[in-house]
Amino acid sequence: MSTIETDVHADFRATVRKIATERIAPHAADVDEQERFPEEAWQAIVEADLAGLAHPERLGGSGADLLSQVIAVEEIAAACMTTSHVLLVNWAGTSTILSHGSEELQELVVPQVASGQAGAGWCLTEPTAGSDVAGLTTTATKVDGGWRLNGLKRFISNAPWGAWFAVLARTGESSHGVFIVHRDDPGLSFGPHERKMGLRGSPTADVVLDDCFVPDVRVVGDPAQGYRYIMGELNGSRALIAAQALGVAQGAFDAALAYTSERSQFGQPVARFQMVRGMVADMAVRLASARALLYEAVALIEAGHPDARARAAMAKLLCSDNAMSVTTDAVQLFGGYGYIRDYPVERMMRDAKITQIYEGTNQIQRTLIAKAAYAAAGAA
Ligand SMILES: Cc1cc2nc3c(=O)[nH]c(=O)nc-3n(C[C@H](O)[C@H](O)[C@H](O)COP(=O)(O)OP(=O)(O)OC[C@H]3O[C@@H](n4cnc5c(N)ncnc54)[C@H](O)[C@@H]3O)c2cc1C
Repeated sequence: MSTIETDVHADFRATVRKIATERIAPHAADVDEQERFPEEAWQAIVEADLAGLAHPERLGGSGADLLSQVIAVEEIAAACMTTSHVLLVNWAGTSTILSHGSEELQELVVPQVASGQAGAGWCLTEPTAGSDVAGLTTTATKVDGGWRLNGLKRFISNAPWGAWFAVLARTGESSHGVFIVHRDDPGLSFGPHERKMGLRGSPTADVVLDDCFVPDVRVVGDPAQGYRYIMGELNGSRALIAAQALGVAQGAFDAALAYTSERSQFGQPVARFQMVRGMVADMAVRLASARALLYEAVALIEAGHPDARARAAMAKLLCSDNAMSVTTDAVQLFGGYGYIRDYPVERMMRDAKITQIYEGTNQIQRTLIAKAAYAAAGAA
């Protein structure tokens, strides 16, 4: 338990861990192998009322704080990172609606997502605009009663499974809006399922907008402020990706502890060898330091502290870099069996890689962190 985790958080963690162990982990390998949606896990999440953790009670959610969301994502990712991604992307997809959407829009979309009846996602990336989000070319043009959207969004998580997607589109030379599209809207279609290194059960596809009409009621707030709205959600979403990275690393670490205690060579458990213990110690330090930084970032985000942005970037960076290191070491500690798909650690290593790439690559996080450091020093 961490210093900011209360007894309530600890109880909640135990509850989610039980669900993850009993109902999510048993299907993780098959979900990966078949590259299929994690149906059984999603059912368990819906039955446990976890789908609406990030949504307020008045809209059918449970109004949990960010630390509880982080804990849920961590515990689920330790069992199946794909499932954790489906869940947290639902929250990202509805985040701007909660922060800036009209009551009518909130009531239209959020209860469906909070109950688990519908999925959501958000569409920022385009073929020629990834790290440079502001360089996007998807347009929204004002027409009678709404807007017409044209463009192509790339690598969209939860597409085509989700029903609702928040699309960032250009509304002027230097203005952007967030528009909520529905899967059945005329003019909206999906590209084929991307075949990925890891996170294979998480749906990922292009979202194609061909003169797609979006009624005025589905515009989030001011159609000139969309870029600012999205940037405002990134602290929370980066904390959740950090939690996902931490979770998959913890899952690999726990598996490595169990395996090295069981596996014998030279007449004794390999856990007795000093070099193995040295690796285990380094892995434990990477997990503890990543968790401490993440929970501090969560506290700053919840408090609306000015350092929250840089600290969330640091947490995303450290948790994901450490996840790559810890999962790679876990494979090493399994020896040849670590490289075989019958054991979970090779999947965890493949899954971990994406956490260094999405929600702003780790180079972009370093750029943000350095900028904040220079600003704090009053330098360029
Ligand atoms: C599985 C998966 C799921 C995803 N889900 C979503 C989603 O749901 N919604 C969504 O909108 N997007 C999603 N993405 C997109 C993801 O966020 C982008 O891939 C990511 O932001 C990087 O953009 P890019 O791929 O265009 O890489 P690029 O921006 O082309 O970067 C290429 C390389 O250049 C480096 N680089 C770029 N600019 C700089 C710079 N200024 N300084 C230093 N280095 C730099 C990058 O770090 C990287 O190493 C997803 C991607 C994947 C693979």
